[in-house]
Amino acid sequence: MFYYEADIERVLSGQPFPLISETADELGLETYVIGGYVRDIFLRRPSKDIDVVTVGSGIELAKAVAKRLGRKAHLSVFKNFGTAQVKHGELEVEFVGARKESYRRDSRKPIVEDGTLEDDQNRRDFTINALALCLNGDRYGELVDPFGGLDDLENLRIVTPLDPDTTFSDDPLRMMRAVRFASQLGFFIDPNTFDAMTRNRERIGIISKERIADELNKIVLSPKPSIGFELLDKCGLLELIFPELCALKGVETKEGIGHKDNFAHTLMVLDRLSRTTNDLWLRWAALLHDIAKPSVKRFDNRLGWTFHNHNFIGEKMIPGIFRRMKLPMNEKMKYVQKLVSLHMRPISLADDEVTDSAIRRLLFEAGDDVDDLMKLCEADITSKNPEKVRRFLNNFRLVREKMAQIEEKDRVRNFQPPVSGEEIMATFGLPPSQPVGVLKEAIKNAILDGVIPNEYEAAVRFMHEKAAKMGLSRV
Ligand code: ATP
Ligand code: MG
Repeated sequence: MFYYEADIERVLSGQPFPLISETADELGLETYVIGGYVRDIFLRRPSKDIDVVTVGSGIELAKAVAKRLGRKAHLSVFKNFGTAQVKHGELEVEFVGARKESYRRDSRKPIVEDGTLEDDQNRRDFTINALALCLNGDRYGELVDPFGGLDDLENLRIVTPLDPDTTFSDDPLRMMRAVRFASQLGFFIDPNTFDAMTRNRERIGIISKERIADELNKIVLSPKPSIGFELLDKCGLLELIFPELCALKGVETKEGIGHKDNFAHTLMVLDRLSRTTNDLWLRWAALLHDIAKPSVKRFDNRLGWTFHNHNFIGEKMIPGIFRRMKLPMNEKMKYVQKLVSLHMRPISLADDEVTDSAIRRLLFEAGDDVDDLMKLCEADITSKNPEKVRRFLNNFRLVREKMAQIEEKDRVRNFQPPVSGEEIMATFGLPPSQPVGVLKEAIKNAILDGVIPNEYEAAVRFMHEKAAKMGLSRV
């Protein structure tokens, strides 16, 4: 038990805790730091947002603390919620009065009344999130742990403090949080708690898509995201919130030929990629790279199972998925679409003789995202055949080397046509019209195919040759 006390002492000896302590004592308010912040002290995870709960008015305490901190502190009061926030430099402290919550079946919004510390701990989602440390002078640093949260931290256990059916039915978002903590922290969900999630899964329907997406993103960003997705699948939540991903599950066999389980494969790719990047949207691209496979799957007597065009169909499915899940419909989505649509290209390149022209075209189409694309493709090699893996990875290395050479020579990654449309129009006295587009496209293709270098003079010369063939003459 000793090292927990050392953790508590280390954290509580620094501000803002002594100052909150003095203020609370002066006002005669029983006060605790509570929840995720306390959990993270013991997990030794850095966290910035501190939650302080006081038996009485949180707003009153916040005002007094802000006053003591002086001009550098910033106070925001949310009267409707009975909470207040004090910001001071890096620190953000949220003050709230201890409360008791009761729920109705049709809403996530509880009826809230003033309560005791115990009431406040009862409304918390998991035992590890219900820990409180007293801040009053005479009990400074005393741990209040009514549900054995410390023991659960030590045993990596996620379990609700009260009856799990009530906890999850009251606020179904907690089911997502359970999975998220399991994935983020590498914890295990207690079997009774997990069974209640399975029973209450349909309740997720009353939760807003945005909040579900927040938790999903935290799962995607966890060290080994497959933990979270497998749990979501097992309790039946995945089917409800992300049916397209569920549809990847399973193996079909015809004439003795099976294909791989694309759900397991996708999660393996996501895990592998997560070792090399913390970029949320690159990880989403891994999650979605084969999303269209179920809809394009065919059995061909000669070729066996095929998934023709799954990259392009996948690209087209993404806006619908993002819209429904309330993920951002912006350049992040376009980035995911681009990676999904291009994810087969480096593999097919590595498969045959790598031509300069094919590399130039890939560099042109992927632009600055080409390194991310290569990471995704390397993660996508999940074959169990070590010889095959070795060959692919070796070819990828060659593709990368060639890319570097060509990029240095031809600079096609951020390709800007060396001759503009305006210049073409002026040279041949053309209005904006089809021949202008044809000339521009011809110049671009000549550069990407290596017919001419990516330089102004060469492009102009090529333009005149092409124009002559088209029967155009300069003005
Ligand atoms: P993180 O900050 O990593 O997202 P957290 O557990 O700290 O995780 P917060 O949203 O910061 O999550 O919430 C702080 C605390 O508030 C939690 O530790 C928990 O005690 C309580 N809490 C948050 N959301 C819920 C909920 N849906 N049901 C019950 N208690 C909750
Ligand atoms: Mg928190």
